Amino acid sequence: MNGWDESQHPRDEQGRFGEGGGEGGGEGEGGGVAVSGGGANKAAVQAAVNAIPKEHLKNAGIASVTVQATIVNQNGQQIAGLARRYGSGPTEIMVANSVNGKALKDPTGTATHEIGHAIDNASGLRLSRSMAPTIHADANKLSAADKYLAQHYLSNDRELFAELYKLKYSPSKKGAFGMGQKTAEKKFAKSLAAMI
Ligand SMILES: [Zn+2]
Repeated sequence: MNGWDESQHPRDEQGRFGEGGGEGGGEGEGGGVAVSGGGANKAAVQAAVNAIPKEHLKNAGIASVTVQATIVNQNGQQIAGLARRYGSGPTEIMVANSVNGKALKDPTGTATHEIGHAIDNASGLRLSRSMAPTIHADANKLSAADKYLAQHYLSNDRELFAELYKLKYSPSKKGAFGMGQKTAEKKFAKSLAAMI
């Protein structure tokens, strides 16, 4: 039996508060993947899905994207988002409306990050492995302060990939790696150029 192939967001890393983009599209958008569930973040998560290239959603086998009041991991901790797949089955993406009573700072970005994990998982982690040297080369040039901001991602190639995917595809443009959008785009320019 295969276990869950699971990636979790322990926290909502972005530093900017604000409304999660309210540009949610109609049911026919997002490669036919409609967001279910409800609450404050539904439109923001649908906007994230709608911005993903259709072939990415298809390749990742994303069958459902759900917004829930909260998501609790197996350790009993609330998390912002989750991408999981059971064996070779379909991939589920979940995004919370809140973590420990606090609204997510960038629910669109969280959804995009989790979709990045799903695409990487579906590749057998080939994508994060092949991109890791390029992303590390960009990350190695960061200042000590920026490395501190990005530390959650730097410790794990899968997180590096998912966060770079968010930087490229999140329509909220609220930044990545703990930095604002423009700064992160500049510092990870080579990685972005190599990203799928
Ligand atoms: Zn992650």
